[in-house]
Amino acid sequence: MQLHYIANASQASSGGRTLPVIDPSDGQPFDELQRGTAEDIDIAVHAARQCYDAVWSKLSAAERGRLLMRLSAKIGEHAEELANLEQRDCGKPTKQAKADALALVRYFEFYAGACDKLHGDTIPYLDGYSVLTWREPHGVTGHVIPWNYPMQIFGRSVGGALAAGNVCVVKPSEDACLSLIRVAQLAAEVGFPAGAINIVTGYGHEVGDALARHEGIDHISFTGSPKVGTLIQQVAAERHCPVTLELGGKSPQIVFEDADLDAVLPMVINAIVQNAGQTCSAGSRLLVQQSIYEPLLERLGKAFETLRVGPAAMDLDVGPLIRASQQQRVWDFLSDAQHAGVAMVAQGQVVDEAPETGYYQAPTLLRDVPVDHRLAQEEVFGPVLAAMSFRDEDHAVQLANATQFGLVAGVWTRDGARQFRMAKRVKSGQVFINNYGAGGGVELPFGGVKSSGYGREKGFEALYGFTTLKTVAIRHG
Ligand code: NAD
Repeated sequence: MQLHYIANASQASSGGRTLPVIDPSDGQPFDELQRGTAEDIDIAVHAARQCYDAVWSKLSAAERGRLLMRLSAKIGEHAEELANLEQRDCGKPTKQAKADALALVRYFEFYAGACDKLHGDTIPYLDGYSVLTWREPHGVTGHVIPWNYPMQIFGRSVGGALAAGNVCVVKPSEDACLSLIRVAQLAAEVGFPAGAINIVTGYGHEVGDALARHEGIDHISFTGSPKVGTLIQQVAAERHCPVTLELGGKSPQIVFEDADLDAVLPMVINAIVQNAGQTCSAGSRLLVQQSIYEPLLERLGKAFETLRVGPAAMDLDVGPLIRASQQQRVWDFLSDAQHAGVAMVAQGQVVDEAPETGYYQAPTLLRDVPVDHRLAQEEVFGPVLAAMSFRDEDHAVQLANATQFGLVAGVWTRDGARQFRMAKRVKSGQVFINNYGAGGGVELPFGGVKSSGYGREKGFEALYGFTTLKTVAIRHG
């Protein structure tokens, strides 16, 4: 039985109700978690406030940094345990679960080092004045986290907030809590004061909503769907609470005829099958220059046919989707595509060992997807790649920018001038040239434009969002 973790102690929900924890690999429940209430959120926010006022705000930046570094090391010691928890909870193949645990280590390491590098400025002003700025923490920050990368998103969001001097109340997804409850326990073990990191589990419309509405929350970091992002913004607007929104994407991989196709192929595949396509920055649209469209699709199709899907512990190319409703969502997209006459190039294979009760979907490559079809416009959040061709650079830019999203883009070309032109013209928060995702990039600011959200997490830039700037003007004598 999983409990909330509030003020360095395991606590049952005041409501006395629980939710099942389901293993996506076989669809069977194997644990229970607390179905939190607004009262639980209230308790966590008060614990956080007390911690902030009495302890956390009095630590020096260097002391905060040492604590974060100790937590990074502790997570490293427990990386396998954490990876195992997240593997079962989220259906992640072993290599993915391990990579996520190591990314969490790295986030806390990065933000540990950043704590005492964050400072304000002095500003030249009128004669007789000294003007300076201070970067002050918001205080108690709320973190609403999705199920696709719990450890990674906790690392960038909570790691950044703590480094900037805040304390945290965290609402993980009801589909993926186990690793984060354990990380909060590890934080207590390395000396984090009670109330610095609090975990309250439960449904979004119950505890997530209560967190966003709570007057004691000074900043909200939300990572999730655009739909819930809108709700969070509306709730936060009522009390003018600052928000960072990390939302969805429909990211294009743009391949020009001069690209190195041997390099393109594995990256394009990985960008859509990693985590079974349940990645905000999944490269879910493939835009290919006409002259190489057919040969590239032929090679990609052959590669898709070799992809194997199965239980997380088998550590194949692709694991299960998170839950039955997500599987149904992907099926709906594929059936819409079929009705619209969109042609399938190739599909991977679900292995015989995969239980029928698990949530499996073979990676699917579709071609000539019309730009206005929902497959080219909406997030599928499954291993489905929508290919289309373009004539020239202008056409590529037009297609790349023709969605409501703007999170990440990949551009594949050897032409240096075109690399810069494309980086400038594509509307997105990150552009990768001749690579995709830069291997995770803890140091690289991340976030979107348009319906992909606003604000930045990851990298040093995140610390600006987790602080507010105070200007102090002193007139001498
Ligand atoms: P979701 O929006 O359904 O849920 C995200 C979180 O919000 C969960 O913890 C959920 O319980 C909570 N929530 C739900 N309703 C709420 C409400 N009314 N008030 C407050 N909280 C509420 O998203 P999901 O299905 O968990 O995750 C998938 C989505 O997340 C995709 O759209 C994906 O692109 C996005 N995502 C974005 C990033 C990024 O960095 N941009 C990273 C990962 C995932």
